[in-house]
Amino acid sequence: MLPLKVEHRIRGFLLFAWDGPQVFLAEERGFLSSLAQQCAQALERAALYEALRERGGKLHLALEAGKEAEERLFFLLEASRALAEHLDDVEWTLEHLARVAARNVATYCLVELMGADGVPRGVAASHREPERDGAVLASLSLPWVEGTLHPARECFLSGETRFLPEVGPELRERMCQGPEHRALLEALNPHSLLAVAVRMRGRTLGVITLGTAAPCRRLVPADVAMAEELARRVAVALENASLYRDAQAAVRLRDEFLSVASHELKTPLTSLKLQHGLIDRAALGAVGDKVRPRLATAVRQVQRLSALVDSLLDVSRISLGRLTLEPSDVDLGQAVRDAVDRMEEVFSLAGCPVRVEVPGPLPGRWDSLRLDQVLVNLLTNAAKYGAGRPVLVEAAFEGEEMVRVSVRDEGIGIAAEDLPRLFGRFERAVSDRHYGGLGLGLYISRQIVDAMGGRIEVESRPGLGSIFTVRLPRSTAQCAPW
Ligand code: ADP
Repeated sequence: MLPLKVEHRIRGFLLFAWDGPQVFLAEERGFLSSLAQQCAQALERAALYEALRERGGKLHLALEAGKEAEERLFFLLEASRALAEHLDDVEWTLEHLARVAARNVATYCLVELMGADGVPRGVAASHREPERDGAVLASLSLPWVEGTLHPARECFLSGETRFLPEVGPELRERMCQGPEHRALLEALNPHSLLAVAVRMRGRTLGVITLGTAAPCRRLVPADVAMAEELARRVAVALENASLYRDAQAAVRLRDEFLSVASHELKTPLTSLKLQHGLIDRAALGAVGDKVRPRLATAVRQVQRLSALVDSLLDVSRISLGRLTLEPSDVDLGQAVRDAVDRMEEVFSLAGCPVRVEVPGPLPGRWDSLRLDQVLVNLLTNAAKYGAGRPVLVEAAFEGEEMVRVSVRDEGIGIAAEDLPRLFGRFERAVSDRHYGGLGLGLYISRQIVDAMGGRIEVESRPGLGSIFTVRLPRSTAQCAPW
C-alpha cells in the first residue's frame, strides 16, 4: 500500500495485491512507488488547476459586475446631465435618454407619459438596432387587453415597479395582446423586462420600460435600483420643466399686462394735461388766483404719474425688445447743462446746490432723448437721495473715442451688498416709507447705456454719498436693437 502525498498531506493510497503467496520484488516496489508519486503529482496539478479556474471565474465575474455597475453609473450620470441641461425641452431629453439606455444598459427602452386625457402616450422609444424603434413603441405601448400581462400598464395603474427577470415562452404568451402583437414580441424577443413609474407627489406622470434580448445580459436587481433612480430624476425634471413653463407664461402675461396697462394709462393722462392747460387759461381774476396754486399741484401730480407710466412703458418695451435708438449729432456738454437747468426747481426744493463742470463741447452721435432720460434719472436720484447736500455734475472726454459723465452727491449712499442689484428691474435699497419710487430708473438707464455700447457704474459709501458714472462711445449704431 503506497500513500499519495500532495503537499505533504496524504490524500489517498494505492493498494496492490497478489492473489496468492507471491511477494513484491524490490524492483517492483520501486516501480510502484514511482507510479504512486506520479499519481500524487497528477492529483496536485488537478487541484491547482481547479483552484485557478475557480479564482479566474470569480475574477471574471467580478470584472463583469464592475463593468455593468460602471455602465449603470455612466448612464445615470449622462441622464442627469441631459435632464439638467435641457430643462426647456424635456421630450428631446427623454428621447436622448431612451437612446442612451438602449445603447448601454438594455436592448430597448420606452418612455411613456400620461397625457392630459389620462391616456399614456409613448414619447420616446429606442432599440439598440435603430430600425426597430417603431417595433418597441408598437409592442410596448399598446392598450391593455384584459386578462393579459402588461408590465407598463400595471406600473401606470399601481405606481409600482414591475420586474420580470426571466421572460420565458409562458410569460411571453401571457404578455401577448393579440396576433399582431405576437409577431412584434417575437421580433423583439425579450428575455427580461422592467417597468418603473415616474412619480411626483403621489401622481404617476409616466412609465419607463427597459427590455433586454439575447445577446444582451438579463436585467438584475441592480438594474431595478438604477431605473428607479432614473425615474426619480425624470420626475424632478418634468416638475422643473412645468414650473419653468409656468414661470415663462407668467412673465409673458406680466409683460403683456404692463404693455396694455401703461398704454391705457397714457390716454387719460394726456387728456388730463390738456384739461389743465384749458383751466389755466380760462381761470381769470380772483377765481384764477385761488385756483392756480391748486392747479399747479394737480399739474405736478400728473407729471409724476406721467413719468411713472413712461417708466412702465419703457420696461415693457425693453422686455418685448421694442426699444430702438435714433442717434443724431449731440453735444453732451450742452445736454448736461440743459438737463441740470430743467431740473433747477427740483434741486432747489431738495436744497442741493449744483455745480456743473464741463470743459467745452463734447460732440458725438447719440439718441438725444434717451441720453437726456439717463441724465435726468441720475440727477433726480442725486436730488432725492442727497437732499440738502451739494451735487457735482462733470462731463469730459475719455480718450478720443469715449466720453464720461458723472453725477456725485453727498447723500445717504448705498451699502456695498446692495450695489450689485441696483441696476435690476424694480430693485431698491431704501424703504418705500421714506422714499417713493418704483426702482426702475437705474434699470432703464442701464438698458439705454448698454444699447449705446457704454457702461454705467456706481461707487458709494453709506452716509458719505454716491458717484454714478456713465461712459459712452462717441457714436452709437443706428437703431441698435434693444
Ligand atoms: P427709485 O429711485 O425709483 O427707487 P432707481 O432705479 O432710480 O429707482 O434707483 C434704485 C435704488 O438705488 C433706489 O431705490 C436707491 O435705493 C438707490 N439709489 C439710486 N440712486 C441713489 C443715490 N444717488 N444715492 C443713494 N441711493 C441711490
